Amino acid sequence: MIYLVGSGPGDPGLFTVKGVECMRAADAVVYDRLAPEALLSHAPQGAEKIYVGKKPGAPTMPQEEINATLVRLGREGKTVVRLKGGDPYVFGRGGEEALALIEAGLPFEVVPGVTSGIAAPAYAGIPVTHRHVSTSVAFVTGHEDPAKGTEDVDWEGIANGAETLVLYMGVGRLREISKRLIAAGRAGETPVACVRWGTRPEQETVTATLETVADRIEEVGLKPPAITVIGDVVSLREDGLDWYERRPLFGKRIVVTRARAQAGELSRELDARGAEVLEFPTIEIKAPEDFAPLDAAIRDLDSFGWIVFTSANGVAAFVERLRHHGLDLRAVPRGAKLAAIGPATADAVRAAGLRVDVVPGEYRAEALLEALLDGSPSGGKVLIPRAKVAREVLPEKLREAGLEVVVPPAYETVPSEEGKDELRERLVSGGVDCVTFTASSTVESFVGAFGGGAKDLLSNTRVACIGPITAETARGHGIRVDAEATEYTIPGLVGAVLGLFAGARDGTAVPLKKDG
Ligand code: SAH
Repeated sequence: MIYLVGSGPGDPGLFTVKGVECMRAADAVVYDRLAPEALLSHAPQGAEKIYVGKKPGAPTMPQEEINATLVRLGREGKTVVRLKGGDPYVFGRGGEEALALIEAGLPFEVVPGVTSGIAAPAYAGIPVTHRHVSTSVAFVTGHEDPAKGTEDVDWEGIANGAETLVLYMGVGRLREISKRLIAAGRAGETPVACVRWGTRPEQETVTATLETVADRIEEVGLKPPAITVIGDVVSLREDGLDWYERRPLFGKRIVVTRARAQAGELSRELDARGAEVLEFPTIEIKAPEDFAPLDAAIRDLDSFGWIVFTSANGVAAFVERLRHHGLDLRAVPRGAKLAAIGPATADAVRAAGLRVDVVPGEYRAEALLEALLDGSPSGGKVLIPRAKVAREVLPEKLREAGLEVVVPPAYETVPSEEGKDELRERLVSGGVDCVTFTASSTVESFVGAFGGGAKDLLSNTRVACIGPITAETARGHGIRVDAEATEYTIPGLVGAVLGLFAGARDGTAVPLKKDG
């Protein structure tokens, strides 16, 4: 079976449920440049992924070759998803592919997608129809050169045939097209909007009139892919309908430095506020070199009165190790109390199916220590399954207080090299608005990745830290810190980042601090 599936315009959330189902069943995915990469993760790991879009400096794959690829995969008996940007049947040559499949005697189905001609305007604050403003809309290709006089598009007819015109692929030809439309009787002062990379965090909207749009595009240097909307509906954008671009972090590029496994929450929160998130996994989580100390503690679990978790990773690693030994939560002694260093770790403990007895009001090792000592330990030893290298404050203080403490490495963090060169380039070119650090270890890994140059790389962007310890670590490396969360959590950090860009709709943020 070959599914011709529309990927939607770019926001991965605009993919259809049926599209996801097809992806999950796919043996092979054949995809284009405009189909969002993020959607590929819906396909099974082992599925073949074949890119047939434009590559820089290489000719595009001819349509016949794409058709032949689909036929070949179909004949191999595979379930194939042909993933196409927007909707497969709107300027997507999906019809041609379906005909080729029919000719080859192969079964196919079509899964429509949200087309960019509707979605990009919607995200730019433009409804393509609106009562009393526009009762009709036409989708037009701007691909053809009207100057050649051999085109299929009936520009005269189109000019007055619909109140809203939506042009696909037309940014490069807007000078001729707008001339043509004006010549055919469309008013020169008709509002026009060009929306580039609509529904993606990097969305860019340029507004003008039919008369001025070509000059405007040149001035701004707007490049494809963009949708052009022509008609009075464009003005509705100014009435506040441009919700997407109004989000507080819209247009901001923010780096999230975390272990890939954890990037989720912070990235999601920033994304929901409009930021373009660049995940830079400074660290990777690995099994510790030696499980012997943790295994010994697990064998001896009944002797512990406290189990203290200092990170979600620690929780995951501990539970995983129990499982490795054929054990489950029943191995945790009934009388033992469980503590978590902060709310995120506490959530991880609860998600693992355990109850949390103590979470300190302030999320640092020192605060946890006080809470533990206050909580009159029920006797017995304290187990802290955590990263191989971590701050020693907590175990040391507990020992000073007379408790027996066991600190077996449950996991290890190692520096990650992934995406390093790209990030350096972006930082040097000023293409990053803010870099976030969620733990001292992420600062250390960042500095580890870039060496002595880290401080200078960060001098042109803003730096936000989750709390004072992390900020101290950054300053210790000569890094200027622009914002510190007052609550040492991911939402707290998001708040600090929002503070940096408050009132920044026009792209100007609080000035960079020049001192340390
Ligand atoms: N089948 C696609 C269109 C493919 S033609 C659909 O239904 O959306 C390619 C053109 O689509 C581009 O030149 C551009 O005009 C438009 N396009 C696709 N994705 C876009 C996006 N995210 N933002 C703006 N325009 C986009």
